Amino acid sequence: MASQTASKVRNETSSSDLMRTDLYIDGQWVRAKAGKTFEVKNPATGDLLAKVADAGIDDVNAAINSANAAFIPWKSALPETRAKIMQQWFQLILHHADTLADILTAEQGKPLGEAKAEIIYGASFVQWFAEEARRIYGRTIPPIRSDSRVLVTKQPIGVCAAITPWNFPNSMITRKVAPAIAAGCTVILKPAEATPLSALALAALAEQAGLPKGVLNMVTSTQSSEVGKALCESPVVRKLSFTGSTEVGRILMAQCAPTLKRLSMELGGNAPFIVFDDADLEKAVAGAVASKFRNAGQTCVCANRIYVQRGIYGAFTDKFKEAVAELKVGDGHAKEVMIGPLIDQKALKKVQNLVEDAKNKGAQVVLGGKTHELGGTFYQPTILTGVKAEMDLKDHEIFGPVAPLFAFDTEEEVIQAANSVEHGLAAYFYTNDLGRAFRVLEALEYGMVGVNEGMVSTAVAPFGGIKQSGFGREGAEEGIQEYLDVKYTLMGGLDIK
Ligand code: ADP
Repeated sequence: MASQTASKVRNETSSSDLMRTDLYIDGQWVRAKAGKTFEVKNPATGDLLAKVADAGIDDVNAAINSANAAFIPWKSALPETRAKIMQQWFQLILHHADTLADILTAEQGKPLGEAKAEIIYGASFVQWFAEEARRIYGRTIPPIRSDSRVLVTKQPIGVCAAITPWNFPNSMITRKVAPAIAAGCTVILKPAEATPLSALALAALAEQAGLPKGVLNMVTSTQSSEVGKALCESPVVRKLSFTGSTEVGRILMAQCAPTLKRLSMELGGNAPFIVFDDADLEKAVAGAVASKFRNAGQTCVCANRIYVQRGIYGAFTDKFKEAVAELKVGDGHAKEVMIGPLIDQKALKKVQNLVEDAKNKGAQVVLGGKTHELGGTFYQPTILTGVKAEMDLKDHEIFGPVAPLFAFDTEEEVIQAANSVEHGLAAYFYTNDLGRAFRVLEALEYGMVGVNEGMVSTAVAPFGGIKQSGFGREGAEEGIQEYLDVKYTLMGGLDIK
């Protein structure tokens, strides 16, 4: 563990192997040029975990230069060579999964079991795209003249920038970096300031796997707007992939306009979770708990508005309450804990305000409704009934363990309500009527739909949104296309008549 680390995460011996606090630029672990650092704290305990290098513009420019110098050799490497290094990275991530999960829980707060699941999920992108590296196919098109041929080939875009959030400190990184490097691009990644340790640990493993210097660069920083601006304005950077809020996404998109960068924007969500009268109640309750309370409700795809048809509203509420009451709140490192702390005080305040607003406008608190007695940023798992469209939580991402239950009567009414927000990321519904399943899934204005499923994320499927939730897809074949340019070549004057 680097000397700057003030206190250590729980699993001391093994975590120390992967704890890095410096920037990773051009294959070197370096301090910020200005010598600045920032503190990383455990949101469950407030303990100082590490002091990490705080990159400024000079560091970002060094990372851009490094990624640029590494591009041509990496692009020219055989796909098999790239795939082998990535397979090695995948194996190393799996090998160190417990340590990575430990670091993740320490800096982010989610329960250890969830952290481990995220590491495995994150690794699955590395494996998937290692395989995809060898399947970057082009095509030929029947020509319009017999002495010509029409070729379509794919080439890596070039130097890519990636900016990631704190709620999935591992998997949001692998699902950008893995397709980029599989395609032959090089990357500069800026992780969220709350969770830099998971990012740096991934870079340490990529280094061990033999990833050539400059192919992946990591700049940790609290100066997110300056760093973001430098990445957006650089003509060398050809693409930006961002996961975060819609507000910041809009800023970055505007900053990228002068250099016309390729963009992938995975922005906020406001998922409807619809339960029809004919649904399997047990499954719907289990799905709602999983969808709503994973990561204490801090995911962009989690159920934000739960619509329950009038006929089963009471029965659903009772069973749901029973299940949610079982969720133990506490430090994610403690046994049996299912709900960790919120990431910071600002997040806690937002949740408090949304619940207060709903209560003031007539919602009833069936469970929770307050900060947790543990103090800090812990909030009680909460269920609200009698929720109405005029309450603030209908249009805002709650990002906390609060489940608002809306009642509805007809399919048409709930489709209209589900679509009546600016976001369009994920939606879920439960029904046993096959005709209804197709009607509703086709009517929902969302990039992803779970039918009788509360969680849809997997590396094999294209993850992404529409409307104000952004554009671009991560995972699946679509994921690698985001990092490829199409080149059309007309071969003329051929002596093959
Ligand atoms: P969240 O609400 O999930 O924190 P943000 O959009 O604020 O979402 O943050 C997501 C990522 O964007 C983080 O890495 C953060 O540091 C970064 N970020 C925030 N503001 C800016 C900005 N103005 N320019 C570039 N990056 C930013």
